[in-house]
Amino acid sequence: MKINGYELALSEADLKEKLEKQTTKIELISPDFEGYKALSDGDKKALHHLVNAAKILNKVFLVQDHSLNLAQKQGLEAAAPESEYAALALRFFNSFNGVEGLNGIDKDPVELFVGIKGFKGRNFYPEDLGVDEFHEILIKMLEAGKIEEVRKILSARTMVRRSGNELKAIDYTEFFAAEFSEIANQLELAAHYTDDAAFKDYLGWQAQALLQNNEDMDMLADKHWAVLQETPLEFTLSRENYEDEMTPTVFDNPVLAKLLEQHQIEATSKDMLGIRAGIVNKAGTELILKFKEHMSELAELMPYKEKYHQNIGAGTELKQTMVDVDLAALSGDYAAVRGGITTAQNLPNNDKLSVKTGGGRRNVYHRQVRQSVDREKMRKIMDKLVSPDLHKLYNPEADHIFVIGHENGHSLGPDSSYQDALGLYKHIIEEHKADVISIAFMPEYVKNGTISADTLKEIYASWVIGRLFLTAQPQYAQAHRMADLIQFNYLLNNHVISFDNNHKLHINFDDFASVMNRLLEETIAVQLSKSPAAAKEFIDRYTVWSETSAYIASEIQKLGVKPYKEIRMYF
Ligand SMILES: [Zn+2]
Repeated sequence: MKINGYELALSEADLKEKLEKQTTKIELISPDFEGYKALSDGDKKALHHLVNAAKILNKVFLVQDHSLNLAQKQGLEAAAPESEYAALALRFFNSFNGVEGLNGIDKDPVELFVGIKGFKGRNFYPEDLGVDEFHEILIKMLEAGKIEEVRKILSARTMVRRSGNELKAIDYTEFFAAEFSEIANQLELAAHYTDDAAFKDYLGWQAQALLQNNEDMDMLADKHWAVLQETPLEFTLSRENYEDEMTPTVFDNPVLAKLLEQHQIEATSKDMLGIRAGIVNKAGTELILKFKEHMSELAELMPYKEKYHQNIGAGTELKQTMVDVDLAALSGDYAAVRGGITTAQNLPNNDKLSVKTGGGRRNVYHRQVRQSVDREKMRKIMDKLVSPDLHKLYNPEADHIFVIGHENGHSLGPDSSYQDALGLYKHIIEEHKADVISIAFMPEYVKNGTISADTLKEIYASWVIGRLFLTAQPQYAQAHRMADLIQFNYLLNNHVISFDNNHKLHINFDDFASVMNRLLEETIAVQLSKSPAAAKEFIDRYTVWSETSAYIASEIQKLGVKPYKEIRMYF
């Protein structure tokens, strides 16, 4: 079957297999949800407008991601009512939210159409622009004194197109003016209806930021957003820049890198946009805040704490809000599930002006994402790979507590200047650090009465079984999975975990805390070294793919892996 002249690359049977056997469904909330019914009439209306904003934004994301996304999606939508094959292809397209994507297992992206591939610079840059030509043009433009134009080309908020022999940058607020103006309208309507003053205020700033070509407006919107703690509704316009692999290449060219430095031009990868809308869950939020209360005590327990300045210390309030959210809508970057979907997200990132100028962060936990774990499959994994006495300890709520510790862990330890100094390895080490802080400090939460000793055991076991059992050997680009492998090997080497002759896991709970504290010490030492070589050495030492790991991966794969996710929206 052809859509706009492009043959589908996956057969109907293959699509069926992927969607029926390899896809986890994530069910977002519907208007029947109790938390929705409990909202005031004003907030109910506001939520509908926020969901409208999310739907409009998705079109912006599709354009940022690939020049053919929109046309191929529309082609599939037109064909779907008449053709089962096209209907399946459309569902698969929607699970990637695009024409192609990684699935977290295969090295190469899965492509939906023959002849349509993703680009290094996504659709932020012209498709036919190679890395060498990109650098040559920038160097020529700088030599010709076009400093401001190059600054715009390398900014996080522009689309770049050819202009004769040069490149030109178009600010998102201009390139996407029609969509941004519609989204701003929806936000203003939501602001009109909501009962919450702080939320109303934020929505007003966010709407303005979409209408003006001015980074300061984003900063102000972000600052108003980051302090929201008590609002009944949640709305996020996310701007993260992990997808654009073109912009960072400028640092690989020494001549260009030097020119950029001379002219004090920062090169920041392009922001992909996404929207999340939902309802703040009060009970879930209270639990998260209980963990926050003790952060300054944990800061005192950090290894080498006298050698660096920490974000939190005794008496300083952490500029961090946290909420647990029942999701009504995910769109754009959030809905592009390519290998995984996050259960919590702490924004803004370090590259954003609001953070650089002292603004705080807001961490949002995604209830419907974490509730989508495949319990049946976990039971099968345990039957194969875990000693029976440990089965009762596996608990998805305990995994959620681990995630809270991980997110809080990012706020402890050496600051981002140490993290960034590790270059290519910074993400692995930082994610690993956050994991290790979470587990190493969990016993403190037993001491201060936040959790019970039984829950601590559940956290340990659920973490090892649910996270450290890997499905495939991870690559450098998969920071979280590489971190998991480091921890798995460290626990194995130190006999905290072991496998008997029947390949069943046993856990030595008595040594868990002391071994994790040693690992934390080694990890902080790596960050303090500011040495990419030391980071690489550490990573390589602990990411050996052993026979044990290979065995676990092959057993889990036999049970059938579900690398795809389908988000179901009801608003
Ligand atoms: Zn993290």
